[in-house]
Amino acid sequence: MPNFLWDPPDTPERMSLAFVLTGSAVASAFAVALVTMVRRNRRLSHELGETRELLARANALGSEDAQPHPVVEDWLSLPSRTALDALWDWDVVADRIRFSARWRELVGLSAAEVHRSTEEWWGRIHPSDRAQLQADVASQLTGVGTQFSSEHRVRHEDGRWLLLHWVGVIGRGPDGRAERITGSVRNTTAQRDVEGRQRREALYDALTGLPNRALAIDLLRRAINRARRQGERRFAVLYVDLDRFSILNDSLGHQAGDEILRGVADRLRTAIRPGDMIARLSGDEFLLLLDDVSEFEDAEIVADRVQLVLADPLQVLTSEVTVGASVGIVLHDSAMVEPTDYLRDAALAMHCAKRAGRARHERFVPEMRDGVRRRVSLEQDFRGAIDRNEFNLLYQPIWATDGPTERLVGFEALLRWNHPVRGTLSPGEFIPIAEETEMIVSLGGWTLHRACLDLRDFASPGPEALWVSVNIAARQLANRGLVAMVDNVLHATGLDASRLKLEVTENVILHDETTAIEVLESLAARGVRALMDDFGTGHASLTYLHRLPIRTIKIDRYFIGRMDVSPQCLEIVRSIITLAKSLGMEIVAEGVEHEAQLVQLRGLGCRAVQGYLFGRPLLAEEAQALVAGLERSPGACPRALLAQLALSGGLEHASAPSPEMVSR
Ligand code: C2E
Ligand code: MG
Ligand code: MG
Repeated sequence: MPNFLWDPPDTPERMSLAFVLTGSAVASAFAVALVTMVRRNRRLSHELGETRELLARANALGSEDAQPHPVVEDWLSLPSRTALDALWDWDVVADRIRFSARWRELVGLSAAEVHRSTEEWWGRIHPSDRAQLQADVASQLTGVGTQFSSEHRVRHEDGRWLLLHWVGVIGRGPDGRAERITGSVRNTTAQRDVEGRQRREALYDALTGLPNRALAIDLLRRAINRARRQGERRFAVLYVDLDRFSILNDSLGHQAGDEILRGVADRLRTAIRPGDMIARLSGDEFLLLLDDVSEFEDAEIVADRVQLVLADPLQVLTSEVTVGASVGIVLHDSAMVEPTDYLRDAALAMHCAKRAGRARHERFVPEMRDGVRRRVSLEQDFRGAIDRNEFNLLYQPIWATDGPTERLVGFEALLRWNHPVRGTLSPGEFIPIAEETEMIVSLGGWTLHRACLDLRDFASPGPEALWVSVNIAARQLANRGLVAMVDNVLHATGLDASRLKLEVTENVILHDETTAIEVLESLAARGVRALMDDFGTGHASLTYLHRLPIRTIKIDRYFIGRMDVSPQCLEIVRSIITLAKSLGMEIVAEGVEHEAQLVQLRGLGCRAVQGYLFGRPLLAEEAQALVAGLERSPGACPRALLAQLALSGGLEHASAPSPEMVSR
């Protein structure tokens, strides 16, 4: 005998056929109930009359089973009064449903309202959830199981939608057909809200509401799979990194930083078409996934739009702020199947855009990966380079500006690698490689020793003695061995601890903050002072620095270089100097190239400077000649002396850093 399968007959004729096929009045009545549900879903009110008619017809077929259940007023009265969930009992055959009193509380019905027909219940179900409920009923009642479960939205009398979870036990007749379901219903709205929130939190960025990195990778993977299936439907990935965001974040405060990110997210949303995706990867990095783009030109239109939407200043708290962005573009490539490959290449292109001057975009080309290969080969050359004597130090004078003419107070030691094949390399090219390997420790040791030795040789001790600043890499500071290394170097060279300063950057400290602070404190106890280099390029604030054993900061040359043309940069320099002074910290301004900048800095109360205004960094012997010249004629104007040295050929050397290497 064919079974009653859930393929709801939607005409009375087909339904009659179902009756014939099953030959059971119970199943027929069940069919009636289900068909009724289907119809209600379509045209609820119109079909109520029809439903009753159908039920009557089913009952008229004469089975006892098809009789409606008698109404039991005190049905489950005791447990239902105490249970937290509402109880329900659906007589499938008679299409009647009964609820415990708790149901009325749940949906806001008054005590007087008693509904036993399924219409009232069905009418409360969210129209969009009715099809799902039908499917739940169909699949669970027509099977052989005894458990029923469904979750759907139900209207409260006050108009709210509650999410209710229904569980029940299916009572089946001797022939296995479902006759009734009895169970409980629980309000899961709050729980689902929490779950929904947790799901959202796992996949969406709380600050901007955009998909986060995890979701972006997932969506990218889907785009890759879609492109593979659909062949010609390609996509493009834009990696957007805000320019100098950390500076704004630092100078304006983190609340303003958050405002900027939210504002940028809103602007970026307007730069894409519907169907494209925008995500926040981390910090100030965003990702745009452009659907159905197969040419760079099309992606570049969006990249231009990104610049355009960011061009107008953002209103942040009480001020207006302009942010630029560097964008890397990568096109779908059928050979690349991993989302992270796209992120890597797009980020490479973005970094090229940064190096090329920021606020622009760059297409990814495979040659960009050559930079990575170059690093690998440099890493090989690095081994043994110290023993082969391939490194040397340049010295950049640091000048006090508290008098009418500048006064030499110290030098910053700047490392160069005289590579036998590639020529003179700047630290930006090899320090990161050295840092990735342990080689930075031996190179750092060499630098410290060389710098202390040179200073001892070309400047005599005394109360006004010159000092030397040595740059320290993150790996060095994360190693307690640095303290012993400094002790050894000072001991071996005989240099007074007060004449050595260590330049650290913020990421050097953040690398391993606990050890870094410990090491800096041990060094401070010995009289070796640390100063914060490149201030303004990271996230650290002056108030944070104040908690560290650091009393001098160097304002990054980015701001100094722009303060005569950008009021924003000037303002940042001014506020750094003011705040540093109020915290009792000293300031050095680096990257002073023009007289106008020097005048401005003097006016702002900055007492020490360094930069190309006074010439390029010096070879050790030039630095020595400068010191000797100043010692010979103490009243001499140092810049005149430098000019003389340069004229005599002393300042000409090939290893001055090229502008693009130092502009970062
Ligand atoms: P830094 O410590 O901020 O050094 C200042 C950099 O700015 C130097 O570049 C210097 O040549 C350049 N500079 C100085 N004045 C001016 C100016 O007026 N205009 C411009 N455009 N640039 C100026 P350099 O020598 O290429 O060093 C780059 C960075 O490499 C340094 O930045 C420092 O972080 C790192 N570095 C240098 N020597 C060492 C070292 O011995 N060890 C470690 N770990 N890092 C080093
Ligand atoms: Mg430095
Ligand atoms: Mg610096």
